[in-house]
Amino acid sequence: MQSDVIYLDYAATTPVDPAVVRAMTTCMGPDGDFGNSGSATHVFGRRAAVRVDEARAQVAALLSAQPDEIIFTSGATESNNLAVLGIARSNGDRGRHIVTSRTEHKAVLDPCKRLEKEGFSVTYLTPDRSGRIDPEAVQAAVRPDTILVSIMFANNEIGVIQDVGGIGAICRKRGITFHTDAAQAVGKIPIDVSTLPVDILSFTGHKLYGPKGAGALYVNHSARPRLHAVTFGGGQERGLRPGTLATHQVVGLGEACALARELLPAEAPRLGAFRDRLWAGIAGLGGVHLNGEGASRLPAVLNVSFEGVEGESLVMGLAELAISTGSACNSASAEPSYVLRALGRDTQLAQSSLRFSLGRFTSEADVDTAIAAVNREVRRLRSLSPASTEVPSGGDGALHGEGGGPGQDTWIRFHLTVAGDVVKDARFQAYGCPHTLAVAAWMAKALPGRRREALQPGTPAEWAAEHGVPVEKLGRLLVIEDAVQACVRRWPERA
Ligand SMILES: *Cc1c(COP(=O)(O)O)cnc(C)c1O
Repeated sequence: MQSDVIYLDYAATTPVDPAVVRAMTTCMGPDGDFGNSGSATHVFGRRAAVRVDEARAQVAALLSAQPDEIIFTSGATESNNLAVLGIARSNGDRGRHIVTSRTEHKAVLDPCKRLEKEGFSVTYLTPDRSGRIDPEAVQAAVRPDTILVSIMFANNEIGVIQDVGGIGAICRKRGITFHTDAAQAVGKIPIDVSTLPVDILSFTGHKLYGPKGAGALYVNHSARPRLHAVTFGGGQERGLRPGTLATHQVVGLGEACALARELLPAEAPRLGAFRDRLWAGIAGLGGVHLNGEGASRLPAVLNVSFEGVEGESLVMGLAELAISTGSACNSASAEPSYVLRALGRDTQLAQSSLRFSLGRFTSEADVDTAIAAVNREVRRLRSLSPASTEVPSGGDGALHGEGGGPGQDTWIRFHLTVAGDVVKDARFQAYGCPHTLAVAAWMAKALPGRRREALQPGTPAEWAAEHGVPVEKLGRLLVIEDAVQACVRRWPERA
């Protein structure tokens, strides 16, 4: 990949493999197989239909399914919606209870919330501290009116793999349809639906080096009568997902599945070794928690939380890495990762999590760069924190004032050296989001030369305007004001 930034966010999306790009481009132009695969009357349509059939066979082969058990969709969100809404609505006369988990992707949770509005009741299982859903918990949650259990194959944030076989067996025994969201698992670990007790399985192309906007739903033959369409039109895909098939997307998905099937036996151990190397290189810092520890996990996903470090500041300092964080500092919601919260992680640890996800184009050198960068940045932020036992140089014997504190989202301490009525030197320690750190650093520069009576330069609202801090975060700047005011109060009468 041509970039100064190392891409370690393969669980968010993957680049399309060049071989997949080539296959897709043969389905679009005037010399390609651009026809409508439903047009059986001429050669253009028939050629497109052949390409679609080939792709369906490639997708099925990856899962050990039959080609006619594959429904093409636009991705895992659509597949999950079709599965959850389609199963529930077609079984409403048999029962109205659904079992799922708190750590599902929103593409399962939101359709479940929709169904609650339609009168269904949903049980959201809480995982254990490792992120696992115990099949016994599913057994205990199902009722005579349960019509659907939906538990993901592997979690997108922490990579924890569920006991799909164990959960499916319970559903089979009770005659309950079992759906699994396998968007993170397909192509990453072996999946054989000919032996797994799974009725319906969702996945998507862009997590396995295929195109975005292409996905599939595996529907076991015996489960089909219990699945109803949620969209209506030309009857394609057995009426379950009508609409002209996007030949190039379908062909890209097929090619991606064929490649994944070929590469999986070598890629899984290669990436698993990289993941372990990464963990070993980071764990030495101390105060690092492996999220999903003790559970079986995807080979290429590593999710860790750092004590004493704020996630957003950490990610910002790791400019050479493209990674994701469970921190909600900059996102619309104030809540950090609901998945880590469901595991019982406290807000600080949920807020300080990083997800590294490795992939086909990751090298050992990339992993080593990541290890060095994380070590550097975590050490830097920890030494900057008021929790550090290292006093900033020049801060010795100075008067200090604090705002916020341990366990809060912001903690600031200023160290002032004063002579009489005037600040001679100012140092700071800070824990918090990047905005907080930036304003604290600016403040430490602004204080020298100022007098006790007029120590504070301006107001938090003015600092926010100057530094581009969003209004929602003004509260954090009030903590900086608290620290400045604490310095004023502690200023000796005759220094
Ligand atoms: C990415 C992902 C989805 C959504 O897939 P799209 O193809 O983007 O709609 C659903 N579930 C899981 C577990 C995912 O990782």
